[in-house]
Amino acid sequence: MSDALVEVRGLERAFGAVRAVDGISFDLIRGQVAGLIGANGAGKTTAMRIMATLDTPDAGAVCIGGTDIVDYPTRVRRRIGWMPDHFTPYADTTVGDYLDFFGRAHGFAGAELARRVDEVREFTDLVTLDERPLRGLSKGQAQRLCLARTLLNDPEFLILDEPAAGLDPKARLEFKNLVRVLRERGKTLLISSHILSELGEMCDTLIFMDAGRLVHHGDTDSLQRRDAAAGAVFEIEIHGPVPPLLEWLAVRPGWKLVEQLRDGARAGFANAAPEAVSAELRRMSADLPIVEFRRQERRLEEAFVEMLRNGNANGENASGRNTP
Ligand code: ATP
Repeated sequence: MSDALVEVRGLERAFGAVRAVDGISFDLIRGQVAGLIGANGAGKTTAMRIMATLDTPDAGAVCIGGTDIVDYPTRVRRRIGWMPDHFTPYADTTVGDYLDFFGRAHGFAGAELARRVDEVREFTDLVTLDERPLRGLSKGQAQRLCLARTLLNDPEFLILDEPAAGLDPKARLEFKNLVRVLRERGKTLLISSHILSELGEMCDTLIFMDAGRLVHHGDTDSLQRRDAAAGAVFEIEIHGPVPPLLEWLAVRPGWKLVEQLRDGARAGFANAAPEAVSAELRRMSADLPIVEFRRQERRLEEAFVEMLRNGNANGENASGRNTP
């Protein structure tokens, strides 16, 4: 049996002239937490809504657990949980009644319904808010309630659209912890965001969309290192004045000044082969009073912006036929 729980192949969806999803393909492995990242309008919600059986693709297919979502939507819905980016609160309903209602909508009743509602309420830390009307919930509490609703049918695959949007740092941390526990329980998650750093920490793999197309699929390390051949960036700190360092850089081929700092400089070295780096390090330390020399990992945002700027020309996984 394939390890892929979710298989997306050549997915397309247009709204008039707008190609919202333009031929994306990827697999999600069972137990994987995947981040779906892209700017506003990149096509994330459209792709997710199709995967959640709420919209039909113009072309392509999605299989979840080997079941085609267009041919067997009801079967698929039993296995998935969908958390939309907009929470529509029924203002006067209480937390308890809300979960009870959605539990019944899933077809649960009696002791089974009570067990499931108890379980998700406890998991999302809503027990003390049971009698609270939804209109009084904070953004973080409402988001936890939305997640609780999504978990009622104990889905193996969770599709969460912008779940951390608008959360304060504390609520964001709580959400990250919930994702971690869900992952430990073996769930497969697809989480969208337009904020890279938000997803970088909690996801095993990142899927980048731009204008409906998949532009990168890989782990965060691979994204940060994907341009290593063009030059690893080192953070250099020297004692004393900066000019000698600048002079040294000016006559050393392969080096370029990235940024001048108050007590040093950031310099890029255009050869990432370990032997070359170590030779440069030896030369540099012989010539300059270096107190620190370390590899600088690029921030995810920088990596993504650069990838888009380069038109993804060297993307190893950019064909739209991606598998992790
Ligand atoms: P955001 O981060 O803003 O939610 P997104 O990446 O989720 O953006 P989508 O909502 O999927 O992007 O939208 C992709 C494109 O498709 C946009 O240009 C959007 O205007 C368009 N679009 C989406 N849904 C519809 C619709 N129902 N009718 C017309 N155009 C649509």
